[in-house]
Amino acid sequence: MQPKPHIIHLPVYQPGKPIETVKRELGLTEVIKLASNENPHGCSPAVKEAIVREMENTALYPDGGAFALSEALAAHLGVKPDQLIFGAGADEVIQMIARAYLMPGDETVMAAQTFPQYRFSAMAENAAVVEVPLKDGVHDLDAMLERITERTKIVWVCNPNNPTGTFVTREALVRFLGAVPQNVLVVLDEAYFEYAVDPEYPDGISLLPDYPNLVVLRTFSKIYGLASLRIGYGVAHADIIRNVNQVRQPFNTSRFAQTAAIAALGDTDFVRRCREANRKGLRQLEEAFARMGLKTFPSQANFIFVDVRRDAKDVFERLLRRGIIVRAGFPGFPTGLRITVGAPEQNEKLIAALEAVLHEAKVQV
Ligand SMILES: *Cc1c(COP(=O)(O)O)cnc(C)c1O
Repeated sequence: MQPKPHIIHLPVYQPGKPIETVKRELGLTEVIKLASNENPHGCSPAVKEAIVREMENTALYPDGGAFALSEALAAHLGVKPDQLIFGAGADEVIQMIARAYLMPGDETVMAAQTFPQYRFSAMAENAAVVEVPLKDGVHDLDAMLERITERTKIVWVCNPNNPTGTFVTREALVRFLGAVPQNVLVVLDEAYFEYAVDPEYPDGISLLPDYPNLVVLRTFSKIYGLASLRIGYGVAHADIIRNVNQVRQPFNTSRFAQTAAIAALGDTDFVRRCREANRKGLRQLEEAFARMGLKTFPSQANFIFVDVRRDAKDVFERLLRRGIIVRAGFPGFPTGLRITVGAPEQNEKLIAALEAVLHEAKVQV
């Protein structure tokens, strides 16, 4: 049996190693995972209560249209409910956008070092992926603009960018949006929106009224701490949302995810505390890396990208043996590691382990 030719060479996504796997494979009892940008503080206690209450209804299908969550989120964001679409994570929203807009032979423009799901989703539709290198770790919007042709359907901008943590300013983004043809969709992925604090960092949703071709993506997986429940969303003009809904599975988000998301939205204090703790953690890591003479990109997210000046995969393996999971293997960054900001004591352990590892591993650069 042969699958469609264009999916034969698609890689199967390799996620950050699960803690349980690392414990089993290496015989470790304590493992710290700083690989998938999960919230080290868990989720709001209100979420746990909501999930327990919802257990009554486990036998019932969820509301496919996510009515209650749409109402709550629309009020929270200041948009209309018909401007929202939910997915099993923002990942699924990315997949649905590609499914709805990309035909074989269409082109889609993205950064060369960015979130891999844009690329995979486009390849599954047999669209041509046009990759534009970052400039000093930041999206090169001018170069991306130049690569737009008559065949371009979607441009992806990850802000802050994963894996670098860098961001494009409001000014740069507005200039870009003004120059992109109206018939090209701009997908602005704001998975880490709630972590960003820089005054120049743009709120994509505030730009929606001016740009009917803009889609903003956000998620409950990161600061809200609901990664296991799989719920994220897209915000756009109602016409775009209707088209993406046309390719959505009827019950793509679960009752637990919907009810948890509503509860999570209500606990603004939890979000604020996580954002503040994250900024402290970032400073802790930045200062330690600077002390070790390692360069980092300035981050507005809950992770930091550091140049360890040695083969990053080797450093990754050595950290793993010490019970710390990080992320390496980013195209174009053979010496780069992405490290999630953990709780203070996790960060301390990472710093100590990295210092030890850097003494063992030979300097290459
Ligand atoms: C984590 C992440 C997402 C989506 O995560 P989900 O768990 O699928 O909501 C989307 N974009 C970026 C850049 C991410 O880092």
